[in-house]
Amino acid sequence: METPAPFVIDRSALGGQGWYWILPRVAIALFVLALIALLWQMHRQDLEEQRATLISDILWVEQDLRFQLSRSAEQLAHLGQEFLGGDLPARRFELAVKALVANTPGLVEVLVVDASGQARAAAPAPDIRPFGATEGRGIGQTDAFRLARNAGRSMYGPPYVAAEGKHHFDIYVPLYLDGQFAGAVIGIYALPTLIAQQVPWWFAERYRVVVVDDSGNVLASKSNVEAGTEGMRYQVPFEPPGQGLLLQAIAYRSTTGLWRNTLALTIVGLALAVLVSLWLQRRQMLRRLAAESALSNEHAFRKAMEDSLLTGMRARDLEGRVVYVNPAFCRMVGWSSEELIGLKPPMPYWAPEEYEATLAVHQQVLAGKAPAQGVEVRLQRRNGERFDALIYEAPLIDADGRHTGWMGSVLDITERKRAEELARQQQEKLQFTSRLVTMGEMASTLAHELNQPLSAIASYTTGCLNLLEQGEINPPALREALQKSAHQAQRAGRIIRRVHEFVKKRESRLAACAINDVIEDAQGLIEADARKRGVRVTLVLGEYLPELLVDRVMIEQVLLNLMRNGMDAMAQTSPTERELIVSSDLEGEGVRVSVADHGPGIAPEVAAHLYEPFFTTKSEGMGMGLNICRSIVEFHQGRLWHEPREAGGTVFHLTLGAGTQ
Ligand code: ADP
Repeated sequence: METPAPFVIDRSALGGQGWYWILPRVAIALFVLALIALLWQMHRQDLEEQRATLISDILWVEQDLRFQLSRSAEQLAHLGQEFLGGDLPARRFELAVKALVANTPGLVEVLVVDASGQARAAAPAPDIRPFGATEGRGIGQTDAFRLARNAGRSMYGPPYVAAEGKHHFDIYVPLYLDGQFAGAVIGIYALPTLIAQQVPWWFAERYRVVVVDDSGNVLASKSNVEAGTEGMRYQVPFEPPGQGLLLQAIAYRSTTGLWRNTLALTIVGLALAVLVSLWLQRRQMLRRLAAESALSNEHAFRKAMEDSLLTGMRARDLEGRVVYVNPAFCRMVGWSSEELIGLKPPMPYWAPEEYEATLAVHQQVLAGKAPAQGVEVRLQRRNGERFDALIYEAPLIDADGRHTGWMGSVLDITERKRAEELARQQQEKLQFTSRLVTMGEMASTLAHELNQPLSAIASYTTGCLNLLEQGEINPPALREALQKSAHQAQRAGRIIRRVHEFVKKRESRLAACAINDVIEDAQGLIEADARKRGVRVTLVLGEYLPELLVDRVMIEQVLLNLMRNGMDAMAQTSPTERELIVSSDLEGEGVRVSVADHGPGIAPEVAAHLYEPFFTTKSEGMGMGLNICRSIVEFHQGRLWHEPREAGGTVFHLTLGAGTQ
């Protein structure tokens, strides 16, 4: 299986040096700069425009005032001329002045003085107040009067505070009768009223109009806007009336400017937000790249680890479908991962003859009952070769803690088993050989040892017979010969017993032990052999059995012998029936152990010799097994016997400890 190239990360991109990181930043910076420049330019232009408008507006107002004043000066001159010329009686003069005052913005009073400055008429107020002559001088002495008389044209007097606190100013218009200076007509204007009435409303909406004197004192003003931020201002000399008066227009900050500023601020703010979000996105991307890199490193590490494994790994989902196999597993079975993934039972690597057993194991695993110590299964490779596998199953839990399937690690134990089997066979051969040797030795010893007493018995017997044939009935001689013969027979018996002892090989060592433990040990020893022969060994162990004082090894030997005989007997039994049941139960105060097989049973002629030494029906049999077993059991004051099973086969029983505890 080829290893994918590890995922490589461009570190320069991570470091922020890549052009694709710089470009958007530069573009956004340029964009913001261009925007600021544009807004600045618009602002400048706006200011210019505002200034131009302001200037033209104030000039227009100033011109309008001048026009208004000069027109009313003409009207005053005409009125005064008519009055002094006598064309206008005093009553008519008053009416004419009233009409003029009503129609002339700011005009509050009209006086007519003669050439010496004496008042001749005043309207609309009947009393003649010393208007511009506040310093105690008569009207005739005022600078403006004199200037008007001398220059022969209208002159304006300086502003002054009138009775109501308002600032007033006067116009002196010289009058001539027949080419001679005859006096003057004086128009008195209230400056605040003039401004209030003459400056149009729309102008006052946009500007505050102020009249200031040369010291900066405000003499009159007009504004339709409450209080607000004042911006640009412009002033022009207020002439007429002159006298150092200035006409100022102060612009209010336009809302369009405010709107534009808000817009500009919004744009700059949005640009900043874009920058910040770009930065955040970059940080996020860096984190993701770092996480991806860590993940791919982890992945590569795991992959390398997995590929180096010799143990096969195979994951299945909850329905038993293969979802993952590692290279070791593919090598083991010979199918590729592409061929295996997605398959459901029966798997191609299941050996057909083991199908039922493998399916049973499979179902056991899916039911969550996989044995913790692993389970042995015989599988097949793609080329048909069989192999033994030891499988450990563990639940597959995903990141959310959900159980998604099963992960199995598969060990190919064929070699191990072969080695074990070889060792077992060698051991068996060795045992067999040693038993043969022992038997040979025993036979020759027996022959040798028994030769003497037997030949002695033979000669004594021959002697006795000779005596009888000769007709010599000599009881003492006969008794002696027979006694000697009996003695030799006893000696032969002792020899036989010694051989018997020898066959038992070892001294017994009694110790308290639980019979169930002994049975389990014996099962453990025979397990490999049983598997090889396809025999199922089932234990049915009784509970609360008393402890027994026995030679554990000897009893184990008895059980092994009985179990091996049972397995031998089932050689022709069908594989599904090959079951050996070893059970234990209470028997009196002791225990009864039974070994039951499904063999052909024991024919009566065989049964008659079963426990005899050297009786065997097997080609390689020794015929000593059951004989020794019975000796051992009897040594323990127990009993060994057999009986046919109802279901077919034989059951061997042995009792231990009954009455000995
Ligand atoms: P061997 O080593 O020859 O098996 P044994 O004393 O163990 O000697 O057994 C003697 C004979 O008894 C065997 O050859 C066999 O014919 C018979 N035998 C023993 N156990 C069984 C059994 N469970 N079923 C049938 N026959 C048996």
